[in-house]
Amino acid sequence: MDNTNPLAKYYRQPKIYLSLPSKGKWYPEGTLTGDPTNLPVYGMTAMDEIMFKTPDALFSGESIVSVIKSCIPDIKDPWSMPQLDIDSVLVAIRIATYGQKLEISFVCKKCAESNETDFDLSRALDYFAGLEWDNKVFCNPLNVTLKPYTYREYTNIQLQSYELRRMLNKSLGDIEQSKKNEILDNFYKKLGQVQAEGFKKQIFTVEADDTVVDNPQQINEWIQNSEVQFFDKIKKHLEKQREIWKIQPQKVKCHKCEHENTVNVDLDTSNFFVKT
Ligand SMILES: [Zn+2]
Repeated sequence: MDNTNPLAKYYRQPKIYLSLPSKGKWYPEGTLTGDPTNLPVYGMTAMDEIMFKTPDALFSGESIVSVIKSCIPDIKDPWSMPQLDIDSVLVAIRIATYGQKLEISFVCKKCAESNETDFDLSRALDYFAGLEWDNKVFCNPLNVTLKPYTYREYTNIQLQSYELRRMLNKSLGDIEQSKKNEILDNFYKKLGQVQAEGFKKQIFTVEADDTVVDNPQQINEWIQNSEVQFFDKIKKHLEKQREIWKIQPQKVKCHKCEHENTVNVDLDTSNFFVKT
């Protein structure tokens, strides 16, 4: 007996094919199948869209992970994917679901007129696909090799920073000024620690005197016992990469006064994935 669902031919089909900026590098074995330069991307199902309307799941990264699994089934474990692929993956899913136009609105800096314009998301994909993550830093005399953090590591850092901010707002209620400064100092110290942990996680190997050290504990000990300049150099390098690895601000002319505005394209998932 033929068990094929007569509706099967109406199931969703891949809408576009994505070339991952990482080209599949840094994926742990077994977490990526298919050709990383040509991955089929499906549009979201009704269930996927509901995931994006669930604030808690969205916030913890759970909904993003579940939607990636649904729309790009070749990515078997989105938690372990390198963070630098995530924006391309989200843009591709949005294109597959709603098309490549993204409406952005801005207020003209010169005449305060409200403007709306369309951004072509496929340009963002081309931009990311042409980038290369620079994973080498020379910290005289050491050669440091970096690896981008995974989506899980990235999400954890975001969550920890958010939690610190939440606690800060709570404790800054109605207390005297001198106490406030102390709380603020403490907050920045802790936030700095969370960020430093994030940078440390991205150090993959350190080459010294013809020996390559890849033991995380030994690398950690080196960071703790070295001059601050080493760490600052790595930090600056990673911060620069981060600036490069996001959709670049767009130059858009105001429709009223023709002033050229610089407009940020925001991938804020709470509105990026829910069509209003
Ligand atoms: Zn204007």
